[in-house]
Amino acid sequence: MTTASRVLVLNSGSSSVKYQLLDMADRSRLAVGLVERIGVGAPPAKRGGQTSRLAHEALAGPNPGRRERVGPIADHEAALKAVAAELAADGLGLDSPELAAVGHRVVHGGTRFTAPTVIDDEVLAEVRSLVPLAPLHNPANITGIEVARALRADIPQVAVFDTAFHSTMPEHAAQYAIDAATAAKYSVRRYGFHGTSHAYVSRATARLLGKAPEEVNVIVLHLGNGASASAVRGGVCVDTSMGLTPLEGLVMGTRSGDLDPAVIFHLARVGGLSVDEIDALLNKRSGLLGMCGDNDMREVLRRAGEGDAAAQGAFATYVHRLKKYIGAYAAVLGRVDAVAFTAGVGENSPQVREAAVDGLAELGLVLDPEANAVRSPEPRLISTEYARVAVAVVPTDEELEIASQAYALVTQ
Ligand code: AMP
Repeated sequence: MTTASRVLVLNSGSSSVKYQLLDMADRSRLAVGLVERIGVGAPPAKRGGQTSRLAHEALAGPNPGRRERVGPIADHEAALKAVAAELAADGLGLDSPELAAVGHRVVHGGTRFTAPTVIDDEVLAEVRSLVPLAPLHNPANITGIEVARALRADIPQVAVFDTAFHSTMPEHAAQYAIDAATAAKYSVRRYGFHGTSHAYVSRATARLLGKAPEEVNVIVLHLGNGASASAVRGGVCVDTSMGLTPLEGLVMGTRSGDLDPAVIFHLARVGGLSVDEIDALLNKRSGLLGMCGDNDMREVLRRAGEGDAAAQGAFATYVHRLKKYIGAYAAVLGRVDAVAFTAGVGENSPQVREAAVDGLAELGLVLDPEANAVRSPEPRLISTEYARVAVAVVPTDEELEIASQAYALVTQ
């Protein structure tokens, strides 16, 4: 008898589903893909080409290679069925006895979920009760869970929470300095996000240093379109930059990160903006995009290089905030063994890494310019040999981490 060792990882967004099928026997990827613009059903001619799209890549089976299907996909159920059909065509069907579990990325686990959890009706109800804390994310995650459960009710569906890794934050880092009764009544505290990535990267950084996670203190800088920093002491998260929602902290592609909360009162009272308008402004039209009109760091860098003042200013503010967090987390940790850059910007932009670390020699951070310029998908050190603190580029792999956590739970 073969042991089921495949895990399907689903990351369901409001109009998209990202998926990967992994074989945990050798941690290999069998298929990866993305369904986007779910629910955008009109014919392409009427919407300027804006219909649904399924991009699938089989990495194993009889038909390896990329395929793309363009055409209306009405909802998440239709999306998952389309994914199942693609996988079946690869000989990797979801009805296979090889499938051990489905791992779902769930954004908000509140204080209730601090570890991966097998989903039953009660768990699903609790995830639903957290929707007010993550109105943009948890509903889509729940839809993905319901559809996958209907498809394979016989195998465990596992929720892996973006907040879980940060649940170890001490109370003094997690609580906001506001009225305690109000905070408790409305569950207002710092939860943190990107936890799966911070967990994976902090461990991979320890491995790169040839040490156990328990032996090292790491500052992880997850710099993607969303961005967050974390302070990880001996494998345990002790602080992170995102808070009640993913809005707090670093400057991001479209989010402001930290600001004086009175900015909101000011915009409401003086500017006459509604709460929803301010929410949209700070989450969708701020950050790099708000400051200079581009949220893609490549564009910001290109324009800054051509002397564009708005792009230079946006880059300077982005880097200034990043530096402040490196300094703050050096203070929180007391001793730092490594600073790890990850995600789209962190893995690919030598300019951002150089600017973030520039001037921090007193903290023990000194880059090797040649190593920093190298492009590679592998974890690597970019600090000089004599630097007291290792600086590393460590590509994140949230899907592998979700699959590992889900598989460990169902096989323990
Ligand atoms: P992620 O959210 O991790 O997928 O990261 C997406 C972001 O990575 C994009 O918004 C880009 O700005 C950024 N990115 C990707 N490649 C590069 C690059 N070569 N240089 C700078 N930024 C990049």
